[in-house]
Amino acid sequence: MEFSKYLKEYPDKDGKFGSYGGAYLPEQLVPAMKDIEQAYLTICHSSQFINELRRIRKEFQGRPTPVYHCERLSRMIGNCQIYLKREDLNHSGAHKLNHCMGEGLLAKFMGKHRIIAETGAGQHGVALATAAAFFGLECTIYMGEVDIAKQAPNVARMKVLGANVVPVSRGLKTLKEAVDAAFEDYLENYEDTIYCIGSAVGPHPFPMMVRDFQSVVGVEAREQFQEMMGFLPDVVTACVGGGSNSIGMFVPFLNDPVEIVGVEPLGRGEKMGDHAASMTYGSKGVMHGFDSIMLKDENGEPAPVYSIASGLDYPSVGPEHAFLREVGRVKYDVATDEEAVDAFFKLSRYEGIIPALESSHAVAYAMRRAKEMNTGSILVNLSGRGDKDLDYVIEKYGFGEKYKDFK
Ligand SMILES: *Cc1c(COP(=O)(O)O)cnc(C)c1O
Repeated sequence: MEFSKYLKEYPDKDGKFGSYGGAYLPEQLVPAMKDIEQAYLTICHSSQFINELRRIRKEFQGRPTPVYHCERLSRMIGNCQIYLKREDLNHSGAHKLNHCMGEGLLAKFMGKHRIIAETGAGQHGVALATAAAFFGLECTIYMGEVDIAKQAPNVARMKVLGANVVPVSRGLKTLKEAVDAAFEDYLENYEDTIYCIGSAVGPHPFPMMVRDFQSVVGVEAREQFQEMMGFLPDVVTACVGGGSNSIGMFVPFLNDPVEIVGVEPLGRGEKMGDHAASMTYGSKGVMHGFDSIMLKDENGEPAPVYSIASGLDYPSVGPEHAFLREVGRVKYDVATDEEAVDAFFKLSRYEGIIPALESSHAVAYAMRRAKEMNTGSILVNLSGRGDKDLDYVIEKYGFGEKYKDFK
């Protein structure tokens, strides 16, 4: 397949990436999604919008984030060089703000007063609450009661930022019920509200918009790496939950002679319920309004999933990933909890960078590949910082004492 005109050709006018994607919606929401698509297609060609987003990225988010050479970590492994795109240095500590600021600006342009979303671990909620504060929009975040109890610091951050956090007490009181509650809110309020999806998933136009907003990561990284080295990396990699930080990193490299690999969480192992490796173990299906690859249980319903990284435990993946694998351009591999924790401590101790457990999966894969290749270079998207994971890691694994003799 030819990739030089990829962004013009995909998704097609129905929001499809090959046979994946699209919009499977209740009838009353079809016009609302069309409005969002129309508004987006208008503003993404408007120089005023592009300049405003550029200013926000620079002055508020602190972009561009640097590309960093992990000299000590690379030397410990061998001759292959590992580089990080430092999305952990993006304001609020992860890549999620890249699309939340875009979605906020779109809401403002459309004259909406309110943005809503669900959140699991609270990362998306915090990023959206940040965008809402910046743009002066009302913000409501739905969160399961179980998650609220587990994620007190993120709940506090959302509230300090002025968001209305609504506890969801039905069913298992976690992410799935929070999605349902946010969706019901949207059905009632779509005239003055946008439901801001937290990854490159959901009905068209969200996978396209989130990809475009996240592409700033890959565009910057490609330019920065080229300027540093005079050539491109051999391998580009990122962790895959819903697939937003990875798709943003990957798309600008599609037309280059670069191997691209997405890393999914293998959790505790291959059994259903022990991992969230949708691309590796899933099959084609429709869920949450779009067609993609998903993990299903014996009844064809979304399967239970698990990962040590709560940002990765989603039973499906953005439709563009399913397509890019089908056409043979992107490969998908896995890393276990154990490998991720090992990478978490090694990056902390060797480089002074504490990575998010999500991002640690990509670092773990890069370390494994670096050892096999023993030459060349690997560029990793370090999607976020690990402060949010510290309490959990320390309680379960201590302070990484077994790594203390590393030189
Ligand atoms: C949410 C999150 C992810 C996973 O989401 P994607 O949409 O797959 O990028 C990865 N890393 C961090 C730090 C996150 O907060």
